[in-house]
Amino acid sequence: AGTVDNGHVTSPELPGWRHVYSGKVRDLYVPDAATSDEAVADRMLVVASDRVSAFDFVLEPGIPGKGVLLTTLSLWWFDQLAGGDGGRGIPNHLAANVVLGDDDEPHPLVPEAVAGRAMVVRSLEMLPVECVVRGYLTGSGWAEYQASGTVCGIPLPAGLGDGDRLPEPLFTPAYKAPMGEHDENISFAQTIDLVGAERAHELRDTSLEIYTRATATAERHGLILADTKFEFGLDDGGELTLADEVLTSDSSRYWDAAAWQTGTTPAARMASFDKQIVRDWLAANWDKRGTPPPLPADIVERTADRYRELLQRLTER
Ligand code: ATP
Ligand code: MG
Repeated sequence: AGTVDNGHVTSPELPGWRHVYSGKVRDLYVPDAATSDEAVADRMLVVASDRVSAFDFVLEPGIPGKGVLLTTLSLWWFDQLAGGDGGRGIPNHLAANVVLGDDDEPHPLVPEAVAGRAMVVRSLEMLPVECVVRGYLTGSGWAEYQASGTVCGIPLPAGLGDGDRLPEPLFTPAYKAPMGEHDENISFAQTIDLVGAERAHELRDTSLEIYTRATATAERHGLILADTKFEFGLDDGGELTLADEVLTSDSSRYWDAAAWQTGTTPAARMASFDKQIVRDWLAANWDKRGTPPPLPADIVERTADRYRELLQRLTER
């Protein structure tokens, strides 16, 4: 495993909170020592920055507004999955009674400096598995399929192309490597070794259930949810709880359904609302050695536009 270049990440100081960790995109805080209120003791503040990462590198510059867009989208999906889409309520990590905060009235625990891009959540015992679900063949799945006819070791029918729909959605978990290392695809048997048979089945069933529900919602808005990644943790009572961000353009590939149907090239079919623009530019302009080059202004702008458009199309805001 290589190293993750997030040495230059900086996170703001926030009143009432103590910074404990920065991932590639998010900064995590816990209540500071002065906060004695028991009600918030096990809370965490997850702050989404405007940082963008590709191939596990944090790039420069950030995408203006991205933190707010990702947070708004996550909150919207958490709400849908809590039953807003008519399905059973999927437990999530949003702290009870400190959920959305009104649009006009930011939640009191969210500092002004990060308003709109922070979530107050329950601190969970995270499971070390990234729960990836793929409904379409592309990216690393397509690369593996070309080499061996499989995706994450699962055999697939011959003759599939880049961007094609899979016969059925696949659960293709990855081991969430400790900070600074790259995640690694694992088999379902390895997932069982990591979390036990019962949890592994629960992770798979819940991930596929969420993907299927989200796909139906996306379809109603003319979107294809090609693939996505969930993270789960356990709460105090051991209940499996959806954490992190959910169904955002960072953790998912979204395509325009009409373009997919009529497009004549893979690129045209996969008109995407995610950071594919960034990945493609980087793949064409960087040999993946040393520091990645800075993103040109038009790539930054187009990416921001796509993130914004996805939010508008899904939430109709
Ligand atoms: P890395 O940490 O390897 O850089 P990353 O880039 O995915 O991974 P971010 O997504 O930027 O990291 O940071 C979010 C971190 O917060 C993840 O490590 C995630 O597992 C963790 N996390 C999210 N929700 C919770 C929660 N409710 N309780 C505890 N940890 C959480
Ligand atoms: Mg993450």
